[in-house]
Amino acid sequence: MIVGLPKEVKNHEYRVGLTPSSVRELSTRGHQVLVQKNAGAEIGLSDAQYVAAGAILLDTAQEIFARSEMIVKVKEPQPAECAMLRDGQILYTYLHLAPDPEQTAALVKSGAVCIAYETITGSNGGLPLLAPMSEVAGRMAIQAGAAHLEKSKGGMGLLLGGVPGVAPGHVVIIGAGVVGSNAMQMAIGAGARVTILDKSVDRLRQLDLIYGNRISTLYSNVQSIEESVLSADLVIGGVLVPGAAAPKLVSRDLISRMKKGAVVVDVAIDQGGCFATSHATTHAEPTFILDGVVHYCVANMPGAVARTSTFALNNATIGHAVALADKGWQAAMREDAHLKNGLNVCQGKLTYQAVAEALGYAY
Ligand code: NAD
Repeated sequence: MIVGLPKEVKNHEYRVGLTPSSVRELSTRGHQVLVQKNAGAEIGLSDAQYVAAGAILLDTAQEIFARSEMIVKVKEPQPAECAMLRDGQILYTYLHLAPDPEQTAALVKSGAVCIAYETITGSNGGLPLLAPMSEVAGRMAIQAGAAHLEKSKGGMGLLLGGVPGVAPGHVVIIGAGVVGSNAMQMAIGAGARVTILDKSVDRLRQLDLIYGNRISTLYSNVQSIEESVLSADLVIGGVLVPGAAAPKLVSRDLISRMKKGAVVVDVAIDQGGCFATSHATTHAEPTFILDGVVHYCVANMPGAVARTSTFALNNATIGHAVALADKGWQAAMREDAHLKNGLNVCQGKLTYQAVAEALGYAY
């Protein structure tokens, strides 16, 4: 198959759909990989590395789209990219169609076979092509939170790990899923005191078995959230209720009673956020201060560490990319129901029920 890798065009998107080693996986199996020049240059993946991996370099996205049977990307296609897709061509990328009627209409019109990373399921449950970005965001949440506890960033001037003779900071993590457990690991590593809350006692039980008395686990309810948030220096919000907006677990009143100079990192902001006071921010201006509490609410945290995010994403996507290239989309999906769950738009039809219902398409 001829596989194409265009450079991402969305504002400040530096990730790339295929690393040189992913290109090598495809090219060693006899597939031809066309890579747009400088596709990975911003994150230190040079054209020379792509050529060494077997890629053919092309100057423009137009050439990539015109000559490829499958396009591999990271972000949803922008209008100019949608216009270049054609009937029967495979598009393999994040799509997030439910809130995006314009993109959906353009993809339906294109006739392309559009496979969304975010709806591909895994044999152990969950969404394995979303998980790497939650891992990145969870780990970054501690890094970002620790930095904003510094005085110059509006924080109380606290070193998370303390020093000998001085107590460490208290990190409270609400939600013990992928984001929460990765944040927890970083917080433990930084030497902080860690409390983690979840509605799932099974989840807390698993963490307790592994981390024992290095963490405190709490069943999440109004009382436990209030008590832990009031004693926290840094609170990470990482809850998810699948298919729903994030529940507002920390009220404006509770924020106003927190320690002055404490930091909240609302990772769940992409689902509306779990702090009543949150609103989405950007990497250019990641924080705002309300009632003396620093709020970090960046909706696309993994974008800041685009190199790490690219490798993590490729680890999760390359297996299906190889299957699609080896077998074609129909046979690959016949053999793998999890991959089939990724099919959102297929040759003029919306094929993913939740998106069809959200946007009023026939299904
Ligand atoms: P996950 O499903 O692995 O974990 C969510 C956890 O929240 C589950 O363990 C669930 O039991 C728990 N939960 C639900 N309701 C709760 C409550 N009332 N109290 C405490 N815990 C509760 O999800 P995840 O992959 O960890 O993602 C968490 C959120 O982070 C999602 O909204 C995701 O979209 C978001 N996210 C944001 C970014 C970003 O850049 N801002 C990046 C990646 C993920």
